Amino acid sequence: MSEQQNLIPIIGLEVHCQLNTNSKLFCSCSSDFRNDEPNTHVCPICLGLPGTLPTLNKKAVEFGIKIGMALNCNILETGVFSRKNYFYPDLVKAYQITMGDFPLGIDGYLAIETEDNCKKFIHISRIHLEEDPGRLIHVSDNKGSHTLVDYNRSGIPLIEIVTAPEIESPKEARLFLNKLRSILEYIGVFDPDKEGSLRVDANISFKGHNRVEIKNISSYRGVEKALLYEMKRQKMMIEKNEYITRETRHFHESNNTTTSGRSKETAMDYRYFQEPDLPLIHVSNWQKNITLPELPDQRCERLILEYNIPKNYATVLTSNFQLANLYEKLAPISKSISAIWLVDVLVGELNYRNLLVKDILKYENWISEWIKLLHEKIITDKSAITIIRLILDEIISNNIVEMPSTIMERLNLKKESVNTYKSNIEKIIENNKKALDDHLSGKKGALNFIIGQVMKETKGKLDPSEITNIINEIISKR
Ligand code: ZN
Ligand code: MN
Repeated sequence: MSEQQNLIPIIGLEVHCQLNTNSKLFCSCSSDFRNDEPNTHVCPICLGLPGTLPTLNKKAVEFGIKIGMALNCNILETGVFSRKNYFYPDLVKAYQITMGDFPLGIDGYLAIETEDNCKKFIHISRIHLEEDPGRLIHVSDNKGSHTLVDYNRSGIPLIEIVTAPEIESPKEARLFLNKLRSILEYIGVFDPDKEGSLRVDANISFKGHNRVEIKNISSYRGVEKALLYEMKRQKMMIEKNEYITRETRHFHESNNTTTSGRSKETAMDYRYFQEPDLPLIHVSNWQKNITLPELPDQRCERLILEYNIPKNYATVLTSNFQLANLYEKLAPISKSISAIWLVDVLVGELNYRNLLVKDILKYENWISEWIKLLHEKIITDKSAITIIRLILDEIISNNIVEMPSTIMERLNLKKESVNTYKSNIEKIIENNKKALDDHLSGKKGALNFIIGQVMKETKGKLDPSEITNIINEIISKR
């Protein structure tokens, strides 16, 4: 094996998140534009018309400071807005108002839990506020290919979070983003489910080689996939002794590849200078009045202590704000059953259907009934799974949700006593002599085979542990 195959990549991220303020960063246009026609959330300010002046959105600054605190940054005394000059059709003023040398916060960190259960700190170099440009929409139709521009997004407040280049794998990058997302959601400044609310530029290189920047990746999974592709590509080039060009690349979700953008990334001169139309912000004064709510790590610790659940369960539950809320609502019914069934079953069934926790919260009564039926042992585990699958499919198809008890009655899923089926079970044992002999001679799995036959014939209405007991009882009396 060549040493190159053990190369570890050096990855750094620049994450742009849209803050969920009601209005834009420098004008009073509403930021709730996603369901509206293009160019309907615009005014002279966010269209960059000459003679207009920006007014700073106080909430956006507060959100930014909160984020800085939650990411353990040093909050600077004074924040200064600057103009970053460049020409592009989505940028109405031909400059973006952002923060240059004096951002909101520097030198922070975020802790992730790596695959081998270690805590790793990813350092945050800086965070700052800036305005989002508009959005270009490339179309090709019978009029040929052309580009449309929508300025609804122009002026939406963004927080930019820049990490130090110390992420060591695509997987770690995803863990970082997941953690960041949950922190921002916990402090109530970000809605991760809004389309396009997060965009990432990812830098990746190998020691001694040039760095490549993958621009504007707009999904969490996309970041991991783009990095995986780029890592493979660069490794292969290094093995063949090829030169890696320093360049910007674009990621294509459709086939998980990246292609070269501008090949010579000459350090563009943005001619930063202080924005004359905005005052300095005395950040540290504002900070005094801001307190942070409970963050994911703190909540995780609390759940472990308060509900006595294992750490891996608490970690999954608290990684999603809504899921943690749901758990705490259900915990009074049963701390452990709720944890197990949310983490081991609900999460997977939701992912499989591309559903979010909040999609099912409108109907949360069914979940508490579902947990109750399990807790009171009215249904078996198998029936519980049948029921939740039916309900989630109903939510997707027509939004009508039957209560679990209704489904239980309709499909006759109520758990029954093994004693009712004792003679059937005796017969099954007789019909599976081979398995019985195997079991009696100590062969592992043979008993499970018989249990499986019983479950199959009784359509999952019997409790497996009760089946085991009665089989042992029958065998011992033979
Ligand atoms: Zn506006
Ligand atoms: Mn930026």
